[in-house]
Amino acid sequence: MIEFKEVGKRYSNGYEALQHINLTIGQGEFVAIIGLSGAGKSTLIRTINRMHDITQGKLTVDGTDVMSLHGKSLREFRRRIGMIFQSFNLITRTTVIKNVLTAFVPELPWWRATLGIFTKEEKMKALEALDQMGILDKAFVRADQLSGGQQQRVALARTLAQNPQIILADEPVASLDPVTAKQVMDDFQRINRDMNITVLINIHHVELALQYATRVIGIRAGEIVYDGPAAQVDQAVLDSIYQGSQEEPA
Ligand code: ADP
Repeated sequence: MIEFKEVGKRYSNGYEALQHINLTIGQGEFVAIIGLSGAGKSTLIRTINRMHDITQGKLTVDGTDVMSLHGKSLREFRRRIGMIFQSFNLITRTTVIKNVLTAFVPELPWWRATLGIFTKEEKMKALEALDQMGILDKAFVRADQLSGGQQQRVALARTLAQNPQIILADEPVASLDPVTAKQVMDDFQRINRDMNITVLINIHHVELALQYATRVIGIRAGEIVYDGPAAQVDQAVLDSIYQGSQEEPA
């Protein structure tokens, strides 16, 4: 369970990117975070794995105060949280399997990490994750030979190899064409349902958010203005989230 209590985030330049965030997200939920560019969506999800530190309130994951973690405890905590980015963040000049194996690097003794030596068990786990994502046949292909959708699947396989409890995804389909974007959203849905992994997606496309997420959080200027079922998001809700903008929801 992820719990935000009166959380605020002020960047070092003084900008208040999040204010009065109160949220409880249960294990296995599929949550979409929507809002204008600059509303604070990315900041919000990045506080959960401490990519950004909160500056107000309390944030806990399964009762652990995220701000109390340092060094080894922070590294161990982060292993339970997968992160997916818009730009896939793969090592493009190496093979798919080597990309997935990087999931194990933070746990390895330095000499194994330096030499790239992995156990049979680790290799099997990486192959299994690729199989789960339907791209086992690409294991020995260079990552830059794959389409955008396939690259995002490799990123998901790398995350699955970590056995995550939570997956945070920051605009994961923003650089994909509409058909591929839906396929990747299908992958998120399958992962969420079959493995009971909590999925939090920061997404620009309202239509996809409503189609796939069970819960939608609308953010405007760093504050939550809607938190409820996707099925109850109507035009009035969208107006409140996108109020005052020239930007049409996608
Ligand atoms: P979104 O994901 O909704 O587009 P972000 O969370 O990226 O929004 O950004 C929220 C606000 O915080 C924006 O106004 C952005 O300019 C500001 N911001 C983001 N990162 C930083 C930073 N490192 N320092 C100062 N301000 C930042």
